[in-house]
Amino acid sequence: MSKSRGMSVPSEKPTILVTGGAGYIGSHAVLALQQAGYQVVVLDNLVYGHRDIVEKVLQVELVVGDTNDRALLDRLFADHAIAAVMHFAAYTYVGESVTQPEKYYRNNVVGTLTLLEAMVAASIKQFVFSSTCATYGVPTIVPIPENHSQNPINPYGITKLMVEKILADFDKAYDFKSVSFRYFNAAGADPQGRLGEDHQPETHLIPLVLMAALGKLESIAIFGTDYPTPDGTCIRDYIHVTDLAQAHVLGLEYLLKGGQSDVFNLGNGSGFSVKEVIETARQVTEKNIVAVEHDRRPGDPPALVGSGEKARTMLGWSPEYADLHKILIHAWQWHQKRHG
Ligand code: UDP
Repeated sequence: MSKSRGMSVPSEKPTILVTGGAGYIGSHAVLALQQAGYQVVVLDNLVYGHRDIVEKVLQVELVVGDTNDRALLDRLFADHAIAAVMHFAAYTYVGESVTQPEKYYRNNVVGTLTLLEAMVAASIKQFVFSSTCATYGVPTIVPIPENHSQNPINPYGITKLMVEKILADFDKAYDFKSVSFRYFNAAGADPQGRLGEDHQPETHLIPLVLMAALGKLESIAIFGTDYPTPDGTCIRDYIHVTDLAQAHVLGLEYLLKGGQSDVFNLGNGSGFSVKEVIETARQVTEKNIVAVEHDRRPGDPPALVGSGEKARTMLGWSPEYADLHKILIHAWQWHQKRHG
């Protein structure tokens, strides 16, 4: 690690630590930070993240390690003049969180707590947190506002809610300021094709539909056709990952200017059904994508749509790609390049 504390020129923007910066949303956030002029250090344990993306595409310093490793965090904060942390590092497979909850509590809650303790010890008190609409559980109002009750229905959602509560307590105890973003369905890829979604294993609808379009999968399964929605399939609010990344930069700048801790939904306020997503993918790819109807997947709420109004008003967030076609065009570009 290079020692950079005290070496920065006053006009330079500060250095931000991005945990999970080798992952899907984290890597897009690193790119957005770079474009906004920030220095970035990535901390990633590379369990699901991609070394090549950080080293070859983003070309920022990569510290390979875990948020549970307090000694590593202390060294990292001593060696770098970190002004704030963006925290994406987490396990995110809902199904696995049900079968192996300890893995999720250990990483998402204990790991985050260790990171927060190390930050307070290093007097770094600005934090942008990657939360989720899964903290709401099954919504009673759609689009979901931020003050909706939070009753998560799986351990993944519970871990994120626990961190939100820890953050509120850290603010009271240590004047620790955070912005938590509860996002809906992250989708799409960098419009210039540099970054995209590459999960192993892949469970998400859009990448799987595109794998079917590429002929890597025989078909796409539609999980449930008997939901109380117009076509019987689940409705989700798909947000372009570049718009999500931009919101994180705005959240960071809000904190750097002295903003109070707050939570924001990141949603477009409009939803698309599984069948609509598949149909749009057929139009974008011009491929015959075979869809097979299956039973419901356990734990899927019928409709999740979020109001992004608060982020628009308070942070000036203005999603550029709030259009399912654009999301799919960019995701298709990336999938052809990475997996074609
Ligand atoms: N889905 C589907 N087939 C798949 C994967 C997902 O029908 O192979 C459905 C899933 O049941 C949900 C929607 O697509 O209703 C979005 O699922 P995804 O896993 O992409 O995101 P989630 O909403 O679970 O975060």
